[in-house]
Amino acid sequence: MKNWWFIRGLKRGVITEDKPREIAPWSTEISGSGEVNCPTGAIRDGKWEPGKCIFCRKCYPNYRPTLNPYISTLHKSEKTFRRSFYLYVVDAGTCGGCNLELKLIASPQYDMTRFGIFFTNTPRHADALVLTGVLTERMNDVIKEAYEAMPSPKVVILLGACAISGGIIGKGIPSDANIIVPGCPPNPFTILDSLRKVKGG
Ligand code: SF4
Ligand code: SF4
Repeated sequence: MKNWWFIRGLKRGVITEDKPREIAPWSTEISGSGEVNCPTGAIRDGKWEPGKCIFCRKCYPNYRPTLNPYISTLHKSEKTFRRSFYLYVVDAGTCGGCNLELKLIASPQYDMTRFGIFFTNTPRHADALVLTGVLTERMNDVIKEAYEAMPSPKVVILLGACAISGGIIGKGIPSDANIIVPGCPPNPFTILDSLRKVKGG
């Protein structure tokens, strides 16, 4: 398969996009009205709760994507990390979907490094703990140990419906998160946008 974005980038001299022109509509905000039998209770009294939504489309056509991908919720940011921001990822129990989308932010199309964002393999060098998946019993202590090993200041990011609310298959990860990034899975643009917000620019 040809990488058309790469060929286009070579021709134009630009290989990254600030905001991709096309984002899968169902990974964006959803709005509408009417009664629906939402399997996760993400729609209550006509109000959509993004952190509970697994984007199953059962509420369609009463509720539809608005195409707004800016759906993360920032609780607190850290101006300290404006220059560089290292992420340590813990998969507490995913299906693999969130991990795949997260990896994509390192691709040349999204290129997280231009914003000073990097992955690290050790919590001792990490500024942010990125948690994905439902909370499985054995990962509870791993998450706590990783958090304690990180130097201060540090931030916690809950990525995807499973980590935030447990989605449809489990329970979420209890945490005083700095930012929550809804989606099942969140799209790479939404992830990158939320990381830029929480690192303070
Ligand atoms: S997409 Fe599915 S989970 Fe999300 S609000 Fe609609 S019915 Fe509920
Ligand atoms: S939020 Fe969705 S994509 Fe992410 S781990 Fe859960 S089920 Fe998989």
